[in-house]
Amino acid sequence: MLQACTRVGTGQPDVSPDILSEVNRIPAIDNHAHPVRFVLSGPADREFDALPVDNMEPQSDPVQLRPTNPGVLEAWRSLWNYPYDAITPQHIAEWRQHKLQILQDKKDTYPAWILEKLGIDIMLANRVHMGTSIQPPRFRWVPYADSLIFPLDNSGLADTNPDRKAFFTLEDGHRQQYLSEAGLSAIPRTLDEYLHLVVTAALERHKQNGAVAEKFEIAYLRPFGFDKIDRSTADKVYSAYATKSAPPVMEYKQLQDFLFRYIAAECGRLGMAVHIHTMAGAGSYFDVAGANPLLLESLFNDPDLRKTKFVMLHGGWPYTREIAALLTKPNVYLDYSLQSLLFPPSDLAPTIKHWLEYVPEKVLFATDAYPYSDEIGWEESGWLASRRGREALALALTIMMQNGEISRARASELARMVLRENARLLYGF
Ligand SMILES: [Zn+2]
Repeated sequence: MLQACTRVGTGQPDVSPDILSEVNRIPAIDNHAHPVRFVLSGPADREFDALPVDNMEPQSDPVQLRPTNPGVLEAWRSLWNYPYDAITPQHIAEWRQHKLQILQDKKDTYPAWILEKLGIDIMLANRVHMGTSIQPPRFRWVPYADSLIFPLDNSGLADTNPDRKAFFTLEDGHRQQYLSEAGLSAIPRTLDEYLHLVVTAALERHKQNGAVAEKFEIAYLRPFGFDKIDRSTADKVYSAYATKSAPPVMEYKQLQDFLFRYIAAECGRLGMAVHIHTMAGAGSYFDVAGANPLLLESLFNDPDLRKTKFVMLHGGWPYTREIAALLTKPNVYLDYSLQSLLFPPSDLAPTIKHWLEYVPEKVLFATDAYPYSDEIGWEESGWLASRRGREALALALTIMMQNGEISRARASELARMVLRENARLLYGF
């Protein structure tokens, strides 16, 4: 019998305690997160993101990312045995010492110790580089590929707005790093050389070093909509502008589109998935309409890319219904990272339910644990997202059972699929 009752006055069922406790016990595979490396002294780790979002122009912060969010206090209590009723500047200073002490005790085992607290078995670490404290089997690497599709002079794109200016400065730095790893100081003269000496070489290096996917946060840099461009057109644009100033926007877009599909195809060949940020993102200039997952459809419909597994990170909010329609493509998946942090379980549960009613094998649990602020580090955001993401899943399953859509046994099965089995099959863990 279903152990759910209706929350007084809301008409919405309470989560079944039985399902919730089962969901809470499943050691999860977190499809997307940014764990921070243990550093005892010297400069802080900045490689948790290729485009750290802490240097952007001010925006109106989502309420869950404000230190006043009561969930932050809960996270502190659970993670650090924090004894107070509020988080004050004085307590932050005190707690910093407390946390430092834990870090000094745990050293390189600290990030994995946090995973235990979060109930996470394996975390996909979306980072520029890994480190001794962030290593398999608990952490699996997802490096960044964006800078590879912007090989030319990016000053025109950087002029779009102040955030893009900061982002393209960072991307130019990343590309320079890929070039120097290839033993080059500038991009080669021909596209052919660029593809082989720089792009494929970087992807193969990533694979060799344990990468399970390549990440694109390209929605921060330009709208989706990657057309199928023939090689000769891409060759022409590349050769015309390899040593010149910024190319015209539309011609550069053709080269970017070609490179995006080239990288996607190479990832398929190398057995790496392609992760794409698919949700409204940070910052006051983020192009929400340009991140509509439906703009990825031509990519997913390309017969030449069917060997590549695409994972739409963050479940496409606000296009959570549109994104569901893409799940029938055999090589397309999604996770609900970040939504698990930004939206309460009562709001996220109907979204998860809708996906589970359509193609449940393609739905993945994830946190997007990220160091947002002094109050909300990757530990706190990971804890909150893990807890709420599980609650939302348990609530979705409760409602489906109450509606007579699934049995109790199927609820257990779906819980395991979302929390780990779907990801295990996708990555071959
Ligand atoms: Zn992320």
